[in-house]
This record gives sequence, structure tokens and C-alpha cells, in this order.
Amino acid sequence: MAPIKNHFDYLVIGGGSGGLASARRASSLYGAKAAIIESGRLGGTCVNVGCVPKKVSWYAATIQETLNEAKGYGFDIEQKGFDFKAFKEKRDAYITRLNGIYSRNLNNDKVTYIPGRARFISKTEVEVDDHTPEGQKLGTKSVYTADKILIATGGYPIVPKDVPGAEYGITSDGFFELDYLPKKVALVGAGYIAVELAGIFQALGVETHLFIRYDTFLRSFDPMIQEVMTSQYEKVGMHIHRRSKQTKIEKDESGKLAIHYEDSNGSGVLSDVDELLWAIGRNPEVGDLGLEAAGIEQNTRGHIIADEYQNTNVENIYSLGDVVGKLELTPVAIAAGRRLSDRLFGGQPNAKLDYGGVPSVVFAHPEVGSIGLTEPEARQKYGDENIKIYKTSFIAMYYAMLEHKGPTSYKLVCMGPEEKVVGLHILGLGSGEILQGFGVAMKLGATKKDFDSCVAIHPTSAEELVTMR
Ligand SMILES: Cc1cc2nc3c(=O)[nH]c(=O)nc-3n(C[C@H](O)[C@H](O)[C@H](O)COP(=O)(O)OP(=O)(O)OC[C@H]3O[C@@H](n4cnc5c(N)ncnc54)[C@H](O)[C@@H]3O)c2cc1C
Repeated sequence: MAPIKNHFDYLVIGGGSGGLASARRASSLYGAKAAIIESGRLGGTCVNVGCVPKKVSWYAATIQETLNEAKGYGFDIEQKGFDFKAFKEKRDAYITRLNGIYSRNLNNDKVTYIPGRARFISKTEVEVDDHTPEGQKLGTKSVYTADKILIATGGYPIVPKDVPGAEYGITSDGFFELDYLPKKVALVGAGYIAVELAGIFQALGVETHLFIRYDTFLRSFDPMIQEVMTSQYEKVGMHIHRRSKQTKIEKDESGKLAIHYEDSNGSGVLSDVDELLWAIGRNPEVGDLGLEAAGIEQNTRGHIIADEYQNTNVENIYSLGDVVGKLELTPVAIAAGRRLSDRLFGGQPNAKLDYGGVPSVVFAHPEVGSIGLTEPEARQKYGDENIKIYKTSFIAMYYAMLEHKGPTSYKLVCMGPEEKVVGLHILGLGSGEILQGFGVAMKLGATKKDFDSCVAIHPTSAEELVTMR
């Protein structure tokens, strides 16, 4: 039987953060005939195995911390444990509800939803291995054509190929499948995903080992954040294995893992590990996309090359989000997707995302927030003589009643005689919520004087940001 042909104005491959946002805007605001092809669950990484279940888990870990600290405020609380299985089921049900909402949103916005796995067969044709919305293969193929095609296929977590037994480990995807709370875990990685998931385990009382390649983690963040956070995780009892490398992973009959490693102290074995989690980075999801059939160029790491307008090297084919690997965050993919539809269908020929000054938060314990340049980046870009740093470290009032004290550290990186704030780095309770407003101020080009002209809100931690000397 000849394949069915369907033509759209806009065909989007990947129903994650970027793809959904772009297709919905094109159809609902500009009336484009748009379709989304998705091989997994609608919502992509963020909704299913990323931001959303991660933040819900972070809330659970934070509640545990609060329960531990409640005594300091005089509460006589008897803790009877944490029903992880019940928590996981409830978290899954929430995600399933979100999947349903995404599907209804597509319907409301008149975007055609095509469940299936997409592959280019030419510059204008995409073949789909048809699925049910639940992901079961139907054994049929359909071919779709479009005036414009967007690739927003995201990425997947890397498992190392050169460590024997690496397959015994899980990744962040597997973290969300765990239906029990392990007693002892090892995580490998120094990026925000490793730091967030390790923080959740640690706060929930799991013996947590974090293997990092250098002396600190969060290495793309300001040195203040790296140093304070690494020592804070150690202070609360996490085992940080610095300058380490895994050489072999073994599994015994009971399913426990032994991690053979080398670090600055020589070689060692960490035994009786329930779960090993690789968080060593993500690759672009392009393996079976048939990019060669359309002649689409990739960089050496496999990311699709897209310019600032999200154009690929092939006319009428665009790409954004994690698959281009520029700034792998949900709001970045969403904003890039919407701007692209504004440009392609909304008569705004110059619409594009400004990738500068994007705020980002690490949901660690405590949270970390960052906007703009780190101190070393600013010094390199503008020269030492043009940079002035304002720094403060203090104990937040919350800890006044507690024996253990958590850190709060803030830094402003200012540039030039007018002291324009080009970098803002904060660490401490509530940093995730504090950051957004300062992001607006920095987008408007705020100077240190502007910060100081805003009257403080007392008593808060954030007030220190407008009273720094
Ligand atoms: C553990 C974790 C925590 C995170 N936490 C945060 C956070 O707190 N804040 C934040 O901003 N970001 C966070 N992120 C990053 C965020 O999830 C991503 O940046 C975002 O989802 C990228 O969106 P996207 O549209 O590029 O890709 P995705 O959301 O990954 O969507 C891509 C979609 O394409 C589909 N697909 C792939 N190939 C094909 C094909 N051939 N045919 C059909 N469909 C296909 C996939 O199934 C997927 O649904 C987190 C990520 C992880 C892994």
C-alpha cells in the first residue's frame, strides 16, 4: 500500500518543551496548519524525566530537612518514616495528569498530534513509524510533508562506554523509575543534575557518594558557588570523591554494586551500593533522525548546528532546544520556539531569542542561582581594572533557632565606572524564587546604584543584595 501523504505548513519533530511551544504558537496565534510528531510521552524531558518530577522530589527532600529542623523551633515531632513508594505513585499520577493536559492543549490549539518516531527521507519529507499515544508501535508508516520543519528532539543521558559494567548503573531517567529509597547510592558527575539528585538522596537520609573529576562540582558556575556548595555537601555528610575515575563496576548475586575507582589517594572500591547513577552529560537525540537524508549539518558532538534565528544549513528546516545544545533549559527551548513561530508565521522577521542573561537555578540544598558572567569570565572579558566585586556571606535568620547553620553567599560582578551588574550569583535558602526579579533588573541594564536605590525588604536574605558594600 502506498504511504499516506499529509501536508502541513509547519511540522514539528519532538513534543517536548520547545516543540510544543512553537507549534502551539504557530497554530493558535497565527493560524498555521501545524503538527507535532512525538514518539514518547507528550511534554518531553522536562515534564516526564526532568524539571517537574525533579522539583517534586526536591520538595520531598526539603520537607524532610524541615522535619529534621522542626525540633529547633520547639516542635515535638516523632518521625515515622517516609513512604517512598506512595510518594512515587503520587508523583507519577501528577505527571500522567500533565501528559493529558498537554494533549488537550494541542487539541484546543488545533495542532495535529502524530504519535510516532520521525525520520527524514528528504529535505521536505518525514517518515513516521506510527505509534499509539501510549508509545506502542502500530507496524505502519506514514509520510508527511511540510513547508517548514522544526527539529526539537532534545537529548538523552550518557552512560560511559569505556567503563566495564557501566550498564549496571542508571541515569536520571532511571532515578524517576526507582520505586524504593536506596540505602546507599553513588552518583558520578559534577553538573547540576548530579548535584540536584545527590542532594535529594542525601536529604532523604541515603548514604550518598558523589564522584567528581576535579576538586569542586558545578564547574561552569562562579568559583564562590563551586567552593561553598562542595564544602556544604561535605558538611552535611555527603561523601565527595574528588579527582576520581571509575575503572570497573561489578554486581554481586544480591544485586549490590561494587564501584572500582581511582582518585588522588590511589585506587579504591566502594561496595554494597544499591544504585549507581551516571550524570555525566547528555547527547543530542539524533541517532535515527535521518539527518543525512536532508543534508543537515551537526557539530562534532552531534548537536544540530543552528544560527541565532534557529535556522539550520537547510532552507526551511529549523532546530532549537537541547538538540542544538546551546543552553539546555526548558524556558530557553520554549522562548526560542515561540520566537521562531513569531518570525515564521507572525510577520516578525527579526524575532529571535536573546541567549544572554538567562537566569538559571540549581535545586541543590540550599538552592543556587546565577545570571550573567562569573567573576573569572567578567575579568577575562572586560579586564581586572574594569571589574568590581561585591560579596557577602552570612547565616540566614532561619538558622537562628537551629544548631546547624546553612550557608548564604551572594556575589555581584560589576563592570565599568557606572558599575553595571553583569553577573549575579547567589546561594542560600529561597535563591530559586529570589532570582527571577533580579533577572528582570539585569535585562534592563541595572547598575549597582540602581540596586542600592531599591529599599530593602526586611527581614529577608535577599535584602543583602540591595545593601552590599
Ligand atoms: C533530570 C533533569 C532535570 C532538569 N531540570 C531542569 C530544570 O529544573 N529547569 C530547566 O529549565 N530545565 C531542566 N532540565 C532540562 C530540560 O528538561 C530540557 O532543557 C528541556 O526539556 C529541553 O526541551 P526540548 O524541547 O529541547 O527537548 P525535550 O523536552 O527533551 O523534548 C524532545 C522530545 O522529542 C521526542 N523525540 C526525540 N526524537 C524523536 C523522533 N525521532 N521522533 C519523534 N519524537 C522524537 C522525545 O521523545 C522528546 O519528547 C532538566 C533535565 C533533566 C534531564
